[in-house]
Amino acid sequence: ASGAPPQVCHFKLVLLGDASVGKSCLVVRFAKGEFYEYQEPTIGAAFMTQTVSLNTEVVKFEIWDTAGQERYKSLVPMYYRGAAAAVIVFDITSRESFDAAKAWVSELQNTDTLIALAGNKSDLEAARAVDRDAARAYADQMSLLYMETSAKTGQNVNELFNEIAVRLPRRS
Ligand code: GDP
Repeated sequence: ASGAPPQVCHFKLVLLGDASVGKSCLVVRFAKGEFYEYQEPTIGAAFMTQTVSLNTEVVKFEIWDTAGQERYKSLVPMYYRGAAAAVIVFDITSRESFDAAKAWVSELQNTDTLIALAGNKSDLEAARAVDRDAARAYADQMSLLYMETSAKTGQNVNELFNEIAVRLPRRS
């Protein structure tokens, strides 16, 4: 190993999306590697940190979960302000949640925040209501990172945060 310690970059990351799409579970899966079927959202993940190690640096995410504030839309800008990245989550079994995700994308589109779109609950393929290719085409059109994740099985969860870490612009 080379001598110099890796540089640590800190980034604020927020999760947005309809209630029950799995935001708290995604944070807990990423930060603790665990999944609780009956996650208490407010206790689950108001604020957590987790690091991603890249080749020459370490990215430390300071993750804010809305913890139910999606019900009070007017409060949400306060919470995503200054975020380097936002994960906008929908549930692949809910078209309504996909529409809500699009509304969040419009709201954050003209900010400096890097946006990732996550189609969560990919383990529920049999109940899919949002077409994968349509979601990907939308994400491409909006220049968003798109991944289908499962907080339950862990599929693509670390990959999602890793890809965000790679894509985040560095302050120099
Ligand atoms: P939030 O309101 O967006 O924070 O959603 P939660 O994280 O509280 O999750 C809502 C519900 O969806 C809970 O019953 C979870 O167990 C369930 N859930 C979350 N992620 C997944 C997933 O990837 N797959 C499945 N099958 N259920 C999930």
